[in-house]
Amino acid sequence: MTEIIDGNAVAGDIRDELTDAIETLADAGARPGLATVLMGDDPASQTYVNMKQRDCEEVGIESHHVDVDGDADPEVLYDAIEELNDDPAIHGYIVQAPVPDHVDYREVIRRVDPLKDVDGFHPENVGRLVAGEARFRPCTPHGVQKLLEAADVATEGADVTIVGRSNIVGKPLANLLLQKADDGNATVTVCHSRTEDLATKTRTADVVVAAAGVPEFIDGSMIGEDAVVIDVGVNRVDAETEKGYELVGDVEFESAKETASAITPVPGGVGPMTRAMLLYNTVKAASLQEDVAVELP
Ligand code: NDP
Repeated sequence: MTEIIDGNAVAGDIRDELTDAIETLADAGARPGLATVLMGDDPASQTYVNMKQRDCEEVGIESHHVDVDGDADPEVLYDAIEELNDDPAIHGYIVQAPVPDHVDYREVIRRVDPLKDVDGFHPENVGRLVAGEARFRPCTPHGVQKLLEAADVATEGADVTIVGRSNIVGKPLANLLLQKADDGNATVTVCHSRTEDLATKTRTADVVVAAAGVPEFIDGSMIGEDAVVIDVGVNRVDAETEKGYELVGDVEFESAKETASAITPVPGGVGPMTRAMLLYNTVKAASLQEDVAVELP
């Protein structure tokens, strides 16, 4: 019987544990504060930002929001970033991607105080992660690790194939799973659009992580017997629903489920974990900045 790994349930458990840590911080006069920065009015980004704010309210994190006009000079965004860097009530913040074309996202990331970089994208935090001294693990890869842990999937000695090499998912996940650590120690293969014979690399893996952004392109024939499948993809495809679309992953769930021993659904798999791990990083940021020890899940 294939296990459907319930990301909503695992994320809920993590949020519950974080709530205790947040109360400890609040009792010490250090309630965590998270800010979201949105440049422009992209509706999908607006939705993500709203969800992040709702998540904060639910666990007792103070949420703040900064809107920057989509046509504004990059300096306006940089000024907002500087204010957040200087604001002691803000322990962490994210600049919602994508930013408008006239803004260099890499420059934006470089301006974020690494101690408040709860996305974990600043070069200092990327370097620390690669060196095995992670301060903030990027939310999606960390969420994938927590899902594997919750599903009792040991990564030690496992062959893991990751499809996708982006800076926010594939590369940091590969680095995390490589670390000499209980939630690492895997042998990792990272595939991308120039990979040859992708199907062999996925079929021979104990764990397949799909993060390519191509709807349902990994099907059951590409999954080995009893492998574990983590589907990071979130793709909108046209459908006869009220909204005119539905969300599907990078994995063809129905066929992959036949061969896999465990699989995450879309929605309800990695997505809720990404949100939960942003709260985790915010609590960690507050704990570090306020020098108040808390127990993290
Ligand atoms: P990117 O577009 O930045 O990266 C996609 C990666 O997949 C690239 O490395 C690309 O290769 C590779 N790729 C694309 N097509 C193929 C193919 N046919 N065969 C093999 N490799 C391929 O995407 P992201 O990493 O930002 O996101 C990936 C997916 O995950 C998206 O669907 C996104 O919406 C979703 N996502 C979900 C999150 C969640 O919380 N659930 C969070 C973040 C992302 P190359 O480098 O050669 O171009």
